[in-house]
Amino acid sequence: MEASAKTRPAKPSGMAKDITPPFTEELEEFRKSVRGWVLANLTPHADEWEASKHFPDEVFKTVASQGYLGLKFEEEYGGSNEGGLENPAQGYLADAVQLEELPACGSGGVAAGIWAHAGIALTPIWKFGSHEQKLKYLKPGVSGDKIAALAITEPGAGSDVAGIQTKAEKVDGGYLLNGSKVFITNGVRAHTIVTAAKTTPEGGHHGISFFIVERGEGVTSSPLEKLGWHASDTAEIGYNDVFVPEENLLGEENHGFYMIMANFQWERLMMALGAVGAMKDVFAATLDYAHERNAFGRPISNFQVIRHKFADMATQIEAARTMTYNALRLFVEGKEPLSEVTMAKLFTQRLLVNICDECLQIHGGWGYMKEYKIERALRDARLGPIGGGTDEIMKEILGKTLGV
Ligand SMILES: Cc1cc2nc3c(=O)[nH]c(=O)nc-3n(C[C@H](O)[C@H](O)[C@H](O)COP(=O)(O)OP(=O)(O)OC[C@H]3O[C@@H](n4cnc5c(N)ncnc54)[C@H](O)[C@@H]3O)c2cc1C
Repeated sequence: MEASAKTRPAKPSGMAKDITPPFTEELEEFRKSVRGWVLANLTPHADEWEASKHFPDEVFKTVASQGYLGLKFEEEYGGSNEGGLENPAQGYLADAVQLEELPACGSGGVAAGIWAHAGIALTPIWKFGSHEQKLKYLKPGVSGDKIAALAITEPGAGSDVAGIQTKAEKVDGGYLLNGSKVFITNGVRAHTIVTAAKTTPEGGHHGISFFIVERGEGVTSSPLEKLGWHASDTAEIGYNDVFVPEENLLGEENHGFYMIMANFQWERLMMALGAVGAMKDVFAATLDYAHERNAFGRPISNFQVIRHKFADMATQIEAARTMTYNALRLFVEGKEPLSEVTMAKLFTQRLLVNICDECLQIHGGWGYMKEYKIERALRDARLGPIGGGTDEIMKEILGKTLGV
């Protein structure tokens, strides 16, 4: 007795019925088509990809064929946002719709691979790259021909970005890169690795630069086993005397820390939107289950305790949704909403873990079984309070904005 993904409502009744700003009727229409496409083309493969701990590279091309990898980018780079960098709002909003609906594919790992490529690796090339760099690396990324990864975290430095040890030493015509990165999404298969490295011997955040590194001589990578996101490729990467030509420096030398921090705002919003999408889906599937599962001669949804669990979850999801949409609205209006984005990331990631746990509880023993996919949702959700800046780091940022 399993509720089919296709029969699940996009919005469970009792939850948001109106179009909520910053979304519009047009974007809500787009949402329906994205959701329909994801359910028809990705969801049916999720179990197989999770079991094999891999999804094919071809998936990037399939997603690209719908235009979903280039929603923010200009047409000259293969994207569909006419405003481009001059007026990014429409592109970001279309991307936000896609980000919220992608979790319907039923595999956090697939969503993570696609987001890491288009959201966190291609976005800095678009924002800080030259026209030539965009033609060479962004365009084939948007078409899904070249897969990208973002490599900041190292075995000895994650939260403390300024503490990275990978070095880029100036040599004739470019830089020589040495060091290692860890936990890099798409790290085994990526053709293009946007990499942070130290370009000055002094410590601190002033000496970090960003490079577009092509996989080639001296670049090694190996996969890592993990709790969730099974279909995604998470890797350790080594750089051993890798020559990076001068023209592959992204933005200005020693300005990498600023770019990393700017990139984090969109990454954290992406994570908040993804969590909102995932919690709505898990909630809807669990509501179906509670209506169908009987105990003591009646559906378990008739027990007041279960009803109250749903009421609590619906309230929390609505809070997460409106908080995230508000942060998104301020972001697309160019207001640099550091607190709002940080709060949305902090609130939604932990909430998704809690919602998945509560939904698993409502499924009883079946929730612990693979068949119902709640166990996968819980495992996948656990990355949220760690990736893209941990909960503790979010609280440190908020503490600073509060002056404490
Ligand atoms: C599946 C997965 C995918 C990832 N994908 C990528 C990717 O594509 N690219 C990439 O660059 N990185 C990626 N990451 C790395 C991720 O961003 C880091 O794991 C995260 O930033 C935390 O860094 P860390 O693991 O080194 O933990 P640490 O920084 O060592 O932190 C350990 C603990 O100490 C706490 N802590 C640290 N500093 C403070 C402080 N100042 N105050 C209070 N508490 C503190 C942390 O909150 C945490 O609880 C990924 C990670 C995972 C698990």
